[in-house]
Amino acid sequence: MNPPTLLQQTAHIADEFVAGLAGRRVGASAGVEQLRHSLAAPLPDEPVDPAEVVSALARAVEPGLVASAGPRYFGFVTGGSLPAALAADWLTSAWDQNAGMFVQSPAMSVVEEVAAGWILDLLGFPSQAGVGFVTGATMANFTGLAAGRHEVLRRAGWDVEQDGLQGAPHLRVVAGAEAHATVFAALRLLGLGSRRVEVIEADEQGRMRADRLGAALRRERTPTLVCAQAGNVNTGAFDPLPEIADLAAEHGAWLHVDGAFGLWAAASPARREQARGVQRADSCATDGHKWLNVPYDSGLVIVADAAAHRAAMSAGAAYFVTGAAGERDGMQWAPEFSRRARALPIYAALRSLGRRGVADLIERCCRHAARLADLLRVAPEVEILNEVVLNQVLVRFRPRDGGDADEFTRAMIRRVQGDGTCWAGGTTWRGRAAMRLSVSGWMTSEADIEMSAAAILRLASS
Ligand SMILES: *Cc1c(COP(=O)(O)O)cnc(C)c1O
Repeated sequence: MNPPTLLQQTAHIADEFVAGLAGRRVGASAGVEQLRHSLAAPLPDEPVDPAEVVSALARAVEPGLVASAGPRYFGFVTGGSLPAALAADWLTSAWDQNAGMFVQSPAMSVVEEVAAGWILDLLGFPSQAGVGFVTGATMANFTGLAAGRHEVLRRAGWDVEQDGLQGAPHLRVVAGAEAHATVFAALRLLGLGSRRVEVIEADEQGRMRADRLGAALRRERTPTLVCAQAGNVNTGAFDPLPEIADLAAEHGAWLHVDGAFGLWAAASPARREQARGVQRADSCATDGHKWLNVPYDSGLVIVADAAAHRAAMSAGAAYFVTGAAGERDGMQWAPEFSRRARALPIYAALRSLGRRGVADLIERCCRHAARLADLLRVAPEVEILNEVVLNQVLVRFRPRDGGDADEFTRAMIRRVQGDGTCWAGGTTWRGRAAMRLSVSGWMTSEADIEMSAAAILRLASS
């Protein structure tokens, strides 16, 4: 028998890790010193055998890995990797196709085309909308807002791609008070600045107040971008999108919706109502690597006006051989030219789950979040701060001795992370410290929820 190839050995390492995900301590066990000690070897002068490099690397990083792809990681709206998506992601690297242009990889171009069509269909967007495969929701926000910047300035007689922003008509940006930090990052990259954003008050669940938006839009008529949100990172709440879409339409503003995880509610018949109106957005950002459970480096942008989308992104050079008969060049829908074929894991995820599987994944996570909140709220130490409308739970802990709840909540987050049964991050919600639990992984079962709730309650009363 032949000895195993490098990729077979690597598959074995990967298999063991994935098989062990549910059983391992969720947080990392090594700290920075230990990891530096095992990894920071001097750069070798001479080549080293690849098999040795990979196995030494796997051994060195092992204690510093986080089981974020596993069933009891509730930090940062982080999903795992569906088996088909993970396998397809391996092939993405093995095939090493450049997904920039059709001529560079006809197969990956068509994969992208088909996956884009499925996404639009599943989420209820018009089939002629533009879809771009980007690195994450940050770049999806960037791309959607770039298309908006193009279009509202074009209508005002200004070509922002050619002439930039210096001397351009005033471009107003309006966003809800709870807009995600990456919306502001995108606006900075677009030369629109974050301080210039007019911030619209949010309600107690973090939803933009449509009445305040209406008042702001009535104050001034000028090219305007409105940034709304489907799924608040803390509460999971949705901005009132139907009202916001009406206001944007009435005032000729471009409506961008950040739906990094929340947009997936539109794929579930049971949750669709919550995302109602999102399909009226001019542009919408979402992630594949969060709730769709594909590996990282996967964001999606949808732009209703495909021409505006392309105008904002297209690059041209003499040696670019762009598709002739409507062939898709991925680079025309995203900021980068050369890039990995990141539509492939999305294609595999959607095909392996099917419509019903995607809906089940979303529904199951929401059900688990509600159950987790119910299991926790019976304890006298626990207060659930949000209406659990999606997959997010905000928990505050009051010490029995009447001590400081902010301090105790932060201590509880450290205890939970140290305990290792599950992992939760922290946040501040309306001025109060909170533990943030997000159920986004395909692997999470009812038993994982019960085990995690029991660990949290044990730590709260000890
Ligand atoms: C995670 C998130 C982002 C940023 O997405 P990345 O994929 O990390 O770039 C933006 N908006 C919201 C609401 C998010 O949850």
